[in-house]
Amino acid sequence: MLPLMEEFYTIQGEGFHTGTAAYFIRIGGCDVGCHWCDVKESWNADLHPPTSSDLIVENARKYSKTVVITGGEPLMWDMDYITKNLQNKNIRTHIETSGAYKLSGIWDWICLSPKKTKLPLQEIYQEANELKIIIYNKNDFKFAEEQASKVNEKCELFLQPEWSHREKMTPQIVDYVMKHPKWKISLQTHKYLNIP
Ligand code: SF4
Repeated sequence: MLPLMEEFYTIQGEGFHTGTAAYFIRIGGCDVGCHWCDVKESWNADLHPPTSSDLIVENARKYSKTVVITGGEPLMWDMDYITKNLQNKNIRTHIETSGAYKLSGIWDWICLSPKKTKLPLQEIYQEANELKIIIYNKNDFKFAEEQASKVNEKCELFLQPEWSHREKMTPQIVDYVMKHPKWKISLQTHKYLNIP
């Protein structure tokens, strides 16, 4: 059973798989406490109904061959059962996580988005396929480099403007990426497209 906040079929708006259709499963519960979090309703897991993983998988398979499990912080829960179940049905498993909790589950793609308020556990850095750093102010570029020094060399690196500061920070990110081209820009394109 997992505290399911919402599930929906949409287009991945951010990061490496931007523009790709996927079924999103948003799991409740997060204590990382980002002040700019745009899903604060997810924080209290008790507000979201415990839902059978089998039912979630049955819903997902009607829509897509790719599932993105997000939150909240999905790694507050054991992801082994649901990810095995998804993969047994030939569905790709992606996760978006802060990495602050023990890595569980079998993943085709791990998007690690570290937060200063609760840093990732060491074990996840080498497993991440994608590192996505949210840029809220210019100090976050330094944080981005510190985090990038810990991931494996194949990990894709993204800088993403925090939505409410996008007008101020996007030009700085553009400059930064041109000077440091190992990084790419990630935009929250789903918000521009007005889709979930
Ligand atoms: S880790 Fe994600 S869900 Fe948790 S507070 Fe930060 S932005 Fe919100």
